[in-house]
Amino acid sequence: MQTKQENVSQPCDCCGSSQWEYRFSENGFDLGRCTDCGLHYLSEMPSPNSRATGMKAGLSDDSPHVAQAQVCNKAERHRTRKFQHFCSLIRESAPPGKWLDIGCGTGTLIAVAMASGVEIEGVELISDRRELAGMLTGAKIHDRPIELLDLSPALFAAVTLTDVFSHLLSPIATLSNIHRILQPGGILLLYTSEVGDGVARHHNYSWDLGDHRYYLGEHTIERYADKIGFELVYREKAWAPDLLYSRDNFLTPGRSILRNMIKTSCVYTPGVLPILRWYMLKMKNRDNPHYVSTLLLKKRTVS
Ligand SMILES: [Zn+2]
Repeated sequence: MQTKQENVSQPCDCCGSSQWEYRFSENGFDLGRCTDCGLHYLSEMPSPNSRATGMKAGLSDDSPHVAQAQVCNKAERHRTRKFQHFCSLIRESAPPGKWLDIGCGTGTLIAVAMASGVEIEGVELISDRRELAGMLTGAKIHDRPIELLDLSPALFAAVTLTDVFSHLLSPIATLSNIHRILQPGGILLLYTSEVGDGVARHHNYSWDLGDHRYYLGEHTIERYADKIGFELVYREKAWAPDLLYSRDNFLTPGRSILRNMIKTSCVYTPGVLPILRWYMLKMKNRDNPHYVSTLLLKKRTVS
């Protein structure tokens, strides 16, 4: 494996180490792994202006352009069952009180939570998605990252961060702010990738490097949790190829009309999807260490 340890421009966001091992390149960016805590991150970070690009656009299977709010909403509605699952996980663990969905897109998770009587606000940086979220849910949708919002401490019982972690400028800054605005015993639900050592470029259709800056390693979240004052109370890991080559994902609309047509015809042409799944899962991705995880972090009552 090629090593470019000398090229890392910043210490690890999680543990502060500068021990960085090159893994692969895509879109002109180098992704590597902190050999101390396992966090995967870019050797050079893109400008902060690109922070919001592609956020909440569903599975990253298309070009890194901002999806139109309506397309985004269609993809989100396809994930309603997943959002219902997230909400029931939170209800089982969180104290009573208000929730906040960071990177709320067009508000589908907010609508699901509201349907079960939860008071909830959102944060969305992309204006057309934010407007649609406000219109569809009537909820208060903030227009800035929480680091820049003047939110009172212990304001929320639960915070959700789905498909957002990889886009953050500094995960430790955002997670620390979330910790500050959570009640003691409050819950952070994080839905994001966890990748094992040995991850390679061919292990994902597209990593959207540049748009994505960070990927958790296998146990990086425990390091963040210890450092900030959270306890990891739940982890649900799904193998990424299993999700990517599923009927559900093939029927989830993306931004490319052509690709949507190909994916739909794979599902409805007898035998095609099972053979494709067998080949991709059993042959091509046997050693793929890419997982998509649902993680529940509880704010410790005594830090
Ligand atoms: Zn580290």
